[in-house]
Amino acid sequence: MAFSAKTPRSLIKSDLPSPIHRKLRKHKFLYISNRRKTHQISSTQPQQQLSFLNTNSLNSSDPNSHLHLLCINGKLQEALNYLDSMQELQIPLDEDTAIGMVRLCEWKRAFEEGSKVYCYVSNSSNSLSLRLGNAFLSMFVRFGKLGDAWYVFSKMVERDVFSWNVLISGYAKKGFFDEALCLYHRMLWVGFKPDVYTFPCVLRTCGAVPNLERGKEVHVHVIRFGFEADVDVINALITMYVKCGDLPKARLLFDKMARRDRISWNAIISGYFENGEYLEGIRLFFKMREHWFDPDLMTMTSVISACESLGNERLGREIHGYVIVTGMSADVSVCNSLIQMYFSLGCWETAEKVFDRMEWRDVVSWTAMISGYENNVLPDKSLDTYRMMELHGFAPDEITLASVLSACAYLGKLDMGIKLHELAKRTGFISYIIVANTLVDMYSKCKCVDKALEVFHSIPDKDVISWTAIILGLRLNNRCFEALIFFRQMKVSLKPNSVTLVSVLSACARIGGLMCGKEIHAYALRTGMALDGFLPNALLDMYVRCGRMGPAWNQFNSQKKDVSAWNILLTGYAQRGQGKLAVEFFNRMIKSNVSPDEITFIPLLCACSKSEMVTEGLKYFNSMELKYGVTPNLKHYACVVDLLGCAGQLEEAYEFIQEMPIKPDAAIWGALLNACRIHRQVELGEFAAQRIFESDRRSVGYYVLLCNLYANSGKWDEVAKVRKMMKDNGLVIDPGCSWVEVKGKIHAFLSGDDFHPQINEINALLEGIYEKMRVAGLGGPKCDSMDGVEISKAEIFCGHSERLAVAFGLINTVPGTPIWVTKNLYMCQSCHSTIKFISKIVRREISVRDTEEFHHFKDGICSCGDVEILRKALTNTTSERN
Ligand SMILES: [Zn+2]
Ligand SMILES: [Zn+2]
Repeated sequence: MAFSAKTPRSLIKSDLPSPIHRKLRKHKFLYISNRRKTHQISSTQPQQQLSFLNTNSLNSSDPNSHLHLLCINGKLQEALNYLDSMQELQIPLDEDTAIGMVRLCEWKRAFEEGSKVYCYVSNSSNSLSLRLGNAFLSMFVRFGKLGDAWYVFSKMVERDVFSWNVLISGYAKKGFFDEALCLYHRMLWVGFKPDVYTFPCVLRTCGAVPNLERGKEVHVHVIRFGFEADVDVINALITMYVKCGDLPKARLLFDKMARRDRISWNAIISGYFENGEYLEGIRLFFKMREHWFDPDLMTMTSVISACESLGNERLGREIHGYVIVTGMSADVSVCNSLIQMYFSLGCWETAEKVFDRMEWRDVVSWTAMISGYENNVLPDKSLDTYRMMELHGFAPDEITLASVLSACAYLGKLDMGIKLHELAKRTGFISYIIVANTLVDMYSKCKCVDKALEVFHSIPDKDVISWTAIILGLRLNNRCFEALIFFRQMKVSLKPNSVTLVSVLSACARIGGLMCGKEIHAYALRTGMALDGFLPNALLDMYVRCGRMGPAWNQFNSQKKDVSAWNILLTGYAQRGQGKLAVEFFNRMIKSNVSPDEITFIPLLCACSKSEMVTEGLKYFNSMELKYGVTPNLKHYACVVDLLGCAGQLEEAYEFIQEMPIKPDAAIWGALLNACRIHRQVELGEFAAQRIFESDRRSVGYYVLLCNLYANSGKWDEVAKVRKMMKDNGLVIDPGCSWVEVKGKIHAFLSGDDFHPQINEINALLEGIYEKMRVAGLGGPKCDSMDGVEISKAEIFCGHSERLAVAFGLINTVPGTPIWVTKNLYMCQSCHSTIKFISKIVRREISVRDTEEFHHFKDGICSCGDVEILRKALTNTTSERN
């Protein structure tokens, strides 16, 4: 069959719009261009005309066979030029040559050129022959141009099962599963009998949906059309059942197979892996070798991943040995799987060995190393490897970027994080949500929460991880109030996961948002997440930090009691200064056969310190290593300094520091400074401060302590000097902020907040209380109009915001209801005595949690036992009181 240029060229009539249409028109225009007119040549004498027209290559006797030769030799451009000449000379193209052209275009992935060939052909004929049609069909399907393929299909006068197969597989490959299945049914309906190629394709589609019902239907067709013995078809059936989760059915088919090939084995083995039955899969893998089937690379990579999922190091190493013996260890993908496996088993050194021995590596290998280090908490190595990767000229992909960004977040490397952000923007990887989410996390952890918010808002389709990252970021940067608002917004469109809930609970714990915390608890119970991951302990922590020991105990009793759970409750006792209870609780923990860890001893020692149980505290400290095998670290030493110092044994504390086996850090000297503040030992305090500022000039807390030391001793010049030092160093103290929960809603009060709608009411109430205190002879509580020096004494850094919160609570709740306030700074003496007084006259229980401890006021007494006040009274020789 030939296509003559002389046949009338009518436009293809079709109801199907096709992209080819446009090209067709364009080409028609080219075809009748004046070039053709200038070379009016008769097609009866092609050879002669051709040789005169051009080129040295046209010396063949038959242009069609010459063109065919060019196609076979893969000379696409030459072939196209030649075709142009042939067209101009109106030499008909024969079918075989046309097919050769199409195959060449398909082979060279040349879509534009392929369309051009199609235009030539369809210009010369209205209908397509079967063979040529099929060639075009498979070319367009290969290019993913389903519209064009469909158009060709509709133009074919005659079709065979191949045509149908190609079209069905085209739709299936593009993810149009319903359309593919629909085409399959049409094919049956018009009377075509499916062949060995049809079934695998259709079955793959059923597995991809996955649709077990349709799959079973196709299984029936397999039997009806007699393909039950065909290995390829049965393999496809096995895979379909596996993907649809019907493992028993897949196994039955596999067991009944009279003849199996390697694909059958791979299908059933990976089927077990995919459905989480790793052991059975591995068992079959060994059986496969017994049956003398050599596993291929695909089998090996999936077996290695299974060892990873099983967490079985011994098996993993055995498989590694097998891979080496069979020579498959030279394969990149096998090595990449091995690296991933070793990292996931925590054997990062072996992973390094595999990587070092690789002859050549791809971006996946590098990324496996970078993310492996990152997951094994070796962020430094992760960054080093990334630098090496860059040196080796590999460009990162989205996974690499996300892993490196996580490492930056961990190390607080903001400058590198910013560079990676730039790179992500440049390369377009920022559009990957995994990259954007890690950027949010990186900026949050590097304390640039506003930048994190900017990235977050730029994500078009935020997922649960994006929201969780920003909520956690706000929490980490002490913007808990906003964290709760974001959580509410998130819930409108997405279902939070347990990590989100843990982050929100942490925010609730921080600002005392009990109602919000309880809501989350209820939500976790409703959705069955209450026992997921860290959630039980996060709930426990929330109750403890909100001061609700009752519900905390209920939660403790309903969950898995790991060492963290015990530590959280122990911290609760420590924050209340309940040393005796803490010790009792610790003994109970030992009796329950829970081994204490490093963290356990911190609240325990802290509780002893608050209750001035010096002997007990020292006893526990000394038994840490001997009895419990926990080596004391700097934090424990700081606790002991605090224990001795707060009890007034400053000399002993100082000696203790000097005898420490490790170099004391700023926190140790800070504990001594704090003790000196309480006991007004200016000289030793100044010495401690000097030691602190040698290593840490950025922590505001130490400056505040020093200021308070001077203020307590009346050294106002020195206070001014320290404050200037802070200013020079660009340090600012967080503004005082208190939160109070009223009717489930949290209200925040900043120090000196004059803009609150109820501020006049609040101030009036406080004035009334101050008046009553003066009448009662407790002149101490300062109203702001009092003597400036007096006010600024010990409370220069308090801000007194808790008074506003308490007053607001009194105004807006029913008499008798307790009031719970949370504060971001320490509560000052003056606020302490004012709230004590309030609790007496209004007969309300008032709780204030500051950064260090809980103050539970009832009938004019505070649960903290006024330890500090007593200490003050004992050591105070001046007439400061009243
Ligand atoms: Zn205050
Ligand atoms: Zn108190």
